Amino acid sequence: MPLSALAVPATRFGKTVLAGAIGSAVAALMLTSLKPVSHSDDDTPPAITPARVAETPKPPPAPPQPRTESVTIDSTFAEAMQRSGFDAATTDLLARSFSGQIDFRRDLRKGDTVSFVMEPQPAQPEPLAVRVSRGDNDGDHDLFLHRDLNGKPFYYTANGKSGAPSFSRYPLAFTRVSSDFSMRRFDPVVHRWQSHDGVDFAAPIGTPVHATARGTISFIGWETGYGKFIVIDNPPPYQTAFAHLSRFAKGLHRGSHVRRGQVIGYVGRTGWATGPHLHYEVRIDDIAQNPLTVALPGDAPLHGPERTRFAQEAQRLADLL
Ligand SMILES: [Zn+2]
Repeated sequence: MPLSALAVPATRFGKTVLAGAIGSAVAALMLTSLKPVSHSDDDTPPAITPARVAETPKPPPAPPQPRTESVTIDSTFAEAMQRSGFDAATTDLLARSFSGQIDFRRDLRKGDTVSFVMEPQPAQPEPLAVRVSRGDNDGDHDLFLHRDLNGKPFYYTANGKSGAPSFSRYPLAFTRVSSDFSMRRFDPVVHRWQSHDGVDFAAPIGTPVHATARGTISFIGWETGYGKFIVIDNPPPYQTAFAHLSRFAKGLHRGSHVRRGQVIGYVGRTGWATGPHLHYEVRIDDIAQNPLTVALPGDAPLHGPERTRFAQEAQRLADLL
């Protein structure tokens, strides 16, 4: 069933972020310059003569050190980033990268702080490490810059996991696909050809349905065709929808926050359904995607030597935060 009947707010986090090769060149330069300076093996003090003193060259300038900056939240994360001189693309990348841990639309408060480790002379204002410290007992949230082989920037946690939200592929623990995502199919209930904007999972009535990522319930109730229906606004630009439920989990309402894996309802056959099944939709920027094949965030942690190198660098940067 199409979800088009629902008015959904457009999200703004789907932009592609382009990486500058210059930035990575500077990062590489900086890493090189931070290696311990090797000292000469020659311990013999030079004979000092007046002439020699005059000729003694100045010691080489200290290698440029990364600098640490900090900004206090006045109103929003975006405003604080702008005040710190970061461009919109960097702000967007960071907001998306943190969104698995922090929802900047509601979790940050005035007085919370964001700290950055910056390249000494950055070609572009892009932090090597970022820490968000919230005023409560939440602790610190750290992310570290990593560039892939194409120079595209990503932010990971210290142990090499993506900071972006992770999604489960399936909202049911066990199931079989009874109707796949398609642009056009014959609807057995309304007897018309129409697109199928989601996937149907056959399962017995009462089978628990789990949220596939954390988010906020933006619709819970009855919707024509969908029957008992839930829509979750996941971290932008994602949205998920669950139809034909027999009932909702207790205590949920519009605005409820749910975590990944939380039971939100139970399989049923309400609305236009020929048999018990869950109709499940995944939308990106309001466009329906195939839930079985769509690329889901948080699926690509670093591995092997790359992860080891990254973890060492992250430890060094964390000490500077
Ligand atoms: Zn369906």
